[in-house]
Amino acid sequence: MKETVVVKFGGSSLADAKQFKKVADIINENPNRRFVVASAPGKRFVEDIKVTDMLYECYELAADGQEFDDKFQKIKDRYNGIISDLGITDFTLDEEFDIIKGAFSHMAGRDYAASRGEYLNSMVLAKYMGFDFIDAAKYIFFDDAGKFDWDKTKEKLEPKLAKTKKAVVPGFYGSMPNGTIKTFSRGGSDVTGSIVARAAKAKIYENWTDVSGILICDPRIVNNPAPISTLTYAELRELAYMGFNVLHEDAVFPVRAAGIPINIKNTNCPQDRGTFIVSETAEPCEHIITGIAGKKGMSVINIEKDKMNGEIGFGRNVLRALEKSNVSFEHMPSGVDTMSVVIQTDNLTGKETAILDEIRSRVHPDDLYIESNLALIAVVGRGMKSARGTAAILFKALADERVNVKMIDQGSSELNIIIGVADEDFEIAMRAIYNAFINVTK
Ligand code: ASP
Repeated sequence: MKETVVVKFGGSSLADAKQFKKVADIINENPNRRFVVASAPGKRFVEDIKVTDMLYECYELAADGQEFDDKFQKIKDRYNGIISDLGITDFTLDEEFDIIKGAFSHMAGRDYAASRGEYLNSMVLAKYMGFDFIDAAKYIFFDDAGKFDWDKTKEKLEPKLAKTKKAVVPGFYGSMPNGTIKTFSRGGSDVTGSIVARAAKAKIYENWTDVSGILICDPRIVNNPAPISTLTYAELRELAYMGFNVLHEDAVFPVRAAGIPINIKNTNCPQDRGTFIVSETAEPCEHIITGIAGKKGMSVINIEKDKMNGEIGFGRNVLRALEKSNVSFEHMPSGVDTMSVVIQTDNLTGKETAILDEIRSRVHPDDLYIESNLALIAVVGRGMKSARGTAAILFKALADERVNVKMIDQGSSELNIIIGVADEDFEIAMRAIYNAFINVTK
């Protein structure tokens, strides 16, 4: 069915019976919302614990041979509370609880344990909605290397969805070739939603969460930032890499391959438009830039040598030194006689001497040193391509705030400009950029 809408609800949207009712209203409002991907119950209040975390803790105890009855009882209480508050009387998860408890005692695996959060929640939601329950273990597959296997998944999931009217599919997990359960990384129900949308050939993938879309900038840094109404997959990739975490980063790929748009929506304010993520858009950008993201905690290895540009294999030798210490790099801006390699400080810690020694012996630099406490900021926007003076606005804004720019890197796609500033200038720089491009009238 061409009009099919796949909806994914995050943990906060399914944290208790009150939230379940909102979810049911949203699903019922549009009969094309045929396939629902559910997360495990999330936090009901700030200090609350997500069911997924309770399951990990509980399994840890079990695997350690310790008593886990009390912890397990708390998990049962969460589900039983939802079931009774929804007024469901002809349904119980007792048998499932017994199976899971037995499996914990028999070391069924950490991933199996974590996956039970979405498994049980989806059973409850399916019962409440009167939808079928489709166990992801039978339709979503990983290969021997633990990578998601689209070909095998497509073969099983596509025909299953084609003959199902309405169903709930648990997010977050699938099966390995040997039949054991494997989960995606944390937040992976987003990925399941995207896979189901692709297999259902959906018109749109709605990802329901607790914010009304993606904001232009981190609200902990800029006060009340405006939401992004539309952005492209490519822009999202750039922003996600720099720390935007509204959506799991792997969730983009399945729908992107099929050209299905994602709409990020708010379960608590369903009337809000939210953010649309699309392959391409003819929609003019509201601002020259779409979003600003950044991260602290980077280090730079600076290498200087006269005439390095004429030395064949110079770059390869530097990167070899990193490879030897099993360190990956983020960026590599270079000058005529200088080359800088930007690395996450966490990855570098403890390996500095080995790497510097290796670089020294391989390329004999004139100067070689590490600078730490660097923050990277990405200014991202498809509108930059056609606008003149973006860099001028950006650097003037930073200069006005007396922020020293230590590094500049512009991707050739003209989709982003990445700058490096000192960690302590990070927030000032982010606000200056936001004000220069978005709050222009201020
Ligand atoms: N429940 C899992 C987690 O907490 C997966 C998800 O919610 O997407 O990470």
